[in-house]
Amino acid sequence: MRFDTLAIHLGQEADPATGATIVPIYQTSTFTQEGIGKHKGFEYSRTGNPTRLALERCLAGLEGASHGLAFSSGMAAISAVLSMLEPGDHVVASADLYGGTYRLFEKVLKPLGLTFTYVDGKDPSAFGKALTPKTRLAWLETPTNPLLELIDIAAVARECKAKSVKVAVDNTFASPCFQRPLGLGADIVVHSTTKYIGGHSDMVGGAVLTSVKEVYDAVKFHQNAAGGVPGPFDAWLALRGVKTLAVRMRRHAENAKAVAEHLSNHPEVKSVIYPGLASHPQHELARRQMSGFGGMVTFRLEGGRAEADAFFRALKVFSYAESLGGVESLAAHPATMTHASFPAEAREARGITEATVRLSVGIEDVSDLVADLDAALAAAAKA
Ligand SMILES: *Cc1c(COP(=O)(O)O)cnc(C)c1O
Repeated sequence: MRFDTLAIHLGQEADPATGATIVPIYQTSTFTQEGIGKHKGFEYSRTGNPTRLALERCLAGLEGASHGLAFSSGMAAISAVLSMLEPGDHVVASADLYGGTYRLFEKVLKPLGLTFTYVDGKDPSAFGKALTPKTRLAWLETPTNPLLELIDIAAVARECKAKSVKVAVDNTFASPCFQRPLGLGADIVVHSTTKYIGGHSDMVGGAVLTSVKEVYDAVKFHQNAAGGVPGPFDAWLALRGVKTLAVRMRRHAENAKAVAEHLSNHPEVKSVIYPGLASHPQHELARRQMSGFGGMVTFRLEGGRAEADAFFRALKVFSYAESLGGVESLAAHPATMTHASFPAEAREARGITEATVRLSVGIEDVSDLVADLDAALAAAAKA
């Protein structure tokens, strides 16, 4: 079966107890057992819950993985993967990382004895060069936040495979609808299901998908031992969200492309970054590696902080808010939101200026989105 069908049905047979067509929210902590060692596969909901299991099976299948594990947040999923490592182990990561991932690596895991090297992800050979005999894991995100740079997953996987280093990809921005890292040679995929998979900005969750049995065993052990599991209701929301992932992603991408093209021709806009534009320096890689270009658009206004502030204040359809991937359009200011913890000079040097705006383009009518942006750009021009 194809992706759109699997997203609706995978792991979601009619409920064996009642015939319920939709997987019920098994809102229970424990399961009554028949006798010693005799039960229906569930004992305690931290260890396993039927609603969560349906989500885990569905997400695994969508990423082409044999195994899936769901977590209470994207960060819980990421920290479960890193739990496989021991003090002294080394990780090579792309420099352009989700802020929370960087914070976990630097502030939580480094003090515990893991070491990290950050490389320019645009150059796959940089990963190979940074590998040491202690390297156990390569960590990357593509497209990156907020500059939407791409990393060639297959090329990085080749560099790392040669040295038996596992490759993990945070696939949150593309979603499995547009990018399947395991098929490109990665070993592990993680998601913040809070974003496109949930899709409605109404839950927080994460997932780890892999076909490597030893990775699955280690991450599953950690899931139960450390306990960062999603509740049944959040698992159900993610499961409901993922049913429409394919239709949503197509519309996100269609709207994002139209918005990116419109902004490209706007006099108040200095530059536009979208992997689907031919002007994107890695457009060819995007075409090769992704089956759609996603819903995120980043652009720079003419001007600085005052113009950006006027722009955000004038928006009516877009909400000025953090996060991404929901049906509603959001606009964010990376310099003071996601990248506030970076030193200003380093941030500017990377191109995340005070005038940089990140859009999570929703699935509203695109003419309303364009009109809203035009009105806000006019307000920025007067600032
Ligand atoms: C949001 C996000 C995370 C963290 O996920 P939470 O669900 O907020 O814990 C990790 N990686 C990326 C790329 C994200 O966008």
